[in-house]
Amino acid sequence: MKKILIGTHNKGKFTEIAYLISKKYKKISPIALKIRSPKETGKTFISNSKLKARYFSRFVNYPVISDDSGLCIKSLKNKPGIYSARLAKKKGSFFNAMIFILKKLKNKRDRAATFNCSLSFKFPNKKIVSVEGKIKGQISKKIIGKNGFGYDPIFIPNNYSKTFGQMTKYKKIKMDHRFIAFQKLNKKIKIL
Ligand code: IMP
Repeated sequence: MKKILIGTHNKGKFTEIAYLISKKYKKISPIALKIRSPKETGKTFISNSKLKARYFSRFVNYPVISDDSGLCIKSLKNKPGIYSARLAKKKGSFFNAMIFILKKLKNKRDRAATFNCSLSFKFPNKKIVSVEGKIKGQISKKIIGKNGFGYDPIFIPNNYSKTFGQMTKYKKIKMDHRFIAFQKLNKKIKIL
């Protein structure tokens, strides 16, 4: 069976990306191979996803897909953005990070936000292919829903009344920023 390394240590992301990739691939996690995460030194989602694809491909001789993603909140100058995972680490948990965001937005009228995702794909000895996907929405007034991961319980996609955290896993996977990026990637490389 063909293999692909999904270059992330985040279980939520791994599940989503694995679900999108064809069944003909055996999906390998860097955790199983005892490969640590690289330092995210990029200033954009694309540069970080490229950096991850380049880094993880050094360890295997089969294709690698990597993701860099995050939540950009308009009235917070598009933060936490590329620092979304780091904010949760700094605050001690995603729950605390969500409480922090809700407090920051308490007196703001504009609750617009975007989930961004850059996916990068690398075949051994080939150039990296990168794409970006975005989904627009609003930050909810409260933390609602137990599904998903990360900031899902405070993000309501436009034209919906539920947070990602209230949606079933499969509903969210088929509409989110990662799905949009994945469709673009698949058009470019046509093998996933
Ligand atoms: P990084 O790409 O490893 O820097 O981590 C991105 C972070 O953004 C994740 O740890 C989550 O906090 C957040 N994030 C990215 N995509 C999603 C999503 O689909 N739902 C909820 N949170 C997300």
